[in-house]
Amino acid sequence: MIDTHCHLDAVPNPEISAAELEILIAIGFNPERARNCLALTQQFPNVFATVGLHPTDANMFSSETVALLEALVLKPKVVGIGESGMDYYWDAATPENQIASFEWQLDLARQLEKPIVIHCRDKDNSRKAFADCAAILRNAGWTQGILHCFAGDAELLETGLALGFYVSFAGNITYKTAQKIRDAAVLVPENRLLVETDAPYLAPIPFRGKPNRPEYVQHTLEVLAGVRQLEYAELESITSANARAVYKLS
Ligand SMILES: [Zn+2]
Repeated sequence: MIDTHCHLDAVPNPEISAAELEILIAIGFNPERARNCLALTQQFPNVFATVGLHPTDANMFSSETVALLEALVLKPKVVGIGESGMDYYWDAATPENQIASFEWQLDLARQLEKPIVIHCRDKDNSRKAFADCAAILRNAGWTQGILHCFAGDAELLETGLALGFYVSFAGNITYKTAQKIRDAAVLVPENRLLVETDAPYLAPIPFRGKPNRPEYVQHTLEVLAGVRQLEYAELESITSANARAVYKLS
């Protein structure tokens, strides 16, 4: 199994996960946490990292942060940029800072020819985050990347797929109330499907409410296999091949 998106720097006993999974992508949240992810890539041969600034930390976006991230991104085993995107749910950073940070990371990803990991979360069904995210992607000029933990609307899904992005499903696809996410998962072409945990957040059923772990990706795969009417092993091999393709791992 491959976990295409985990915050391994925040997972206790990461050595257990590294032993159980084929590949883990430790996703950077800000410069300090990206540095912690890079330390994990040195500790475990099958851990790779991304470097970026999460939209909820976008008020940190400054020339100093840019300089730190630009240095980190050149380190070995960095396979992507992010996570970036738009988050209006937590209201933790201004929309202006989120947009500036997102556009800068899209540009960095384009210059370095690395995939960008995109987070998009809305508040109260306003769909504004989805609309803003889709508009930024249409204007960005960079189309290698992942719509991570997909829970967006039809416009964001259609925009992302038309541009060439992969779409990743997380533990929330297992929740009873998540029919919209399962409906979206039917629409993604087989060669663009990914799975992830977003550990330690968003644990799938039967671990909902507990800290999530990369090895729980199995439960997301099981539900997604049902949704796609595929055998578990078949879906696992499809999503693993897609994970290697998007992150350019052999
Ligand atoms: Zn994440």
